Amino acid sequence: MTVITRFAPSPTGRLHVGNIRTALHNWMFARANGGKFVLRIDDTDPERSEERFVDAIRADLDWLGMTPDAEERQSARFALYEARFATLVASGHVYPAYETTQELDLKRKIQAGRGLPPIYDRAALALDDDARAKLEADGVKPHWRFKLDHDAPIAWIDLIRGPQAFEPRTMSDPVVRRADGSWLYMLPSAIDDIDMAITHVVRGEDHVSNTALQLQMFAAMNATAPQFAHEALLTGAEGKLSKRLGSLGVDHFRKVGIEPQAVRALLARIGTSDPVEPIADAAPLIAGFDFARFGRAPARFDEVELAALNARILHALPFEAVAERLPEGMDLAAWEAVRPNLVTLADAADWWGVIEGPVAVEGDIDGEYLDQAFAAAGEIDWSGDPWHALTARLKAETGRKGKALFLPLRLALTGRDHGPDMAALLPLIGHERALERLAVR
Ligand code: GLU
Repeated sequence: MTVITRFAPSPTGRLHVGNIRTALHNWMFARANGGKFVLRIDDTDPERSEERFVDAIRADLDWLGMTPDAEERQSARFALYEARFATLVASGHVYPAYETTQELDLKRKIQAGRGLPPIYDRAALALDDDARAKLEADGVKPHWRFKLDHDAPIAWIDLIRGPQAFEPRTMSDPVVRRADGSWLYMLPSAIDDIDMAITHVVRGEDHVSNTALQLQMFAAMNATAPQFAHEALLTGAEGKLSKRLGSLGVDHFRKVGIEPQAVRALLARIGTSDPVEPIADAAPLIAGFDFARFGRAPARFDEVELAALNARILHALPFEAVAERLPEGMDLAAWEAVRPNLVTLADAADWWGVIEGPVAVEGDIDGEYLDQAFAAAGEIDWSGDPWHALTARLKAETGRKGKALFLPLRLALTGRDHGPDMAALLPLIGHERALERLAVR
């Protein structure tokens, strides 16, 4: 069996961090099992679906390194839904219902008044042919419901949640198609999962009760259902479902300098029993991927944790991984020198500016000490380790040590009181520029 997963966003907006996490787990599970990862665009609703969001979804997945093996679009598959629908109507698994929204609301109010659950009473099933013909003659167009099998208890072993059970009598027959012919999400999704041979459906736990209904749809279509993994939802750092998460996506991450590897490393592990670690490569994350390690408590997404992880990942990224995003001329040695000091990759350009100069020094530096440093810099060997040569010489000549020895040099040479290791930086600044910066102004 080839594992096939699908990520099925509706193109009605940008992906947010919750969607991205679901996509990631689908992608990782497929990769971990040598399987396929399908992007299925759930665009049955032409009113709300927009092409620009389809493009954005593709671009976001690309940026995150999760390019799908195939892409499908529900809007291109209406003929298949029509055919399966006709079969289900013919077999009595789907039936027409004529109630208006107002009538249904009223029924629910009456049920509530009697302390009963708001389950559809199947009045439409009780209509005889005459009654139905009259409604149709009056121009009432039906919507369509899937008839749950009340005698078939619903149960499955969820890969994350474990054994799940639902009693079909406690659920309303779901509407699968509206009176105007448009589709609700549930049936086309089940049809596609069958037709695309999806083996594992990985999605949020807000879909658990949909799964119960869809399991009966798979059975009605004589298909084996895929396996299901419903993940606990994402919450903000404070542990609450947060509105902000809905607006955090790839655009935001890029803007604040988050690398895709950091997003991946964090979202792969939060909500699992594995620690969040600065793992830039996908392979080790994929190798350890296991639904059994997912917890049932909400996963906490913390932007501060993401930023910290991002910095740690940057500190280990090889030059090749970032070369094309570095300033012109910045080479391997410069990358390795400044890398430990980066919070975001954009900071590399600042440090490159420090290396290349000019640098502006604020505050006073002891002129006499700088004279001594200028003289020493003219005499040391620049081909080896100029920083240690320079400071050893100045230490011997001036008796300075510690901060008094180092800080004025750092200030004069970089214009800053902190930064990358001077031993790595000074060879990059070089003899000539160092002398210029040490010359007393
Ligand atoms: N389009 C559905 C959604 O975004 C897909 C759910 C599913 O994965 O089946 O909620």
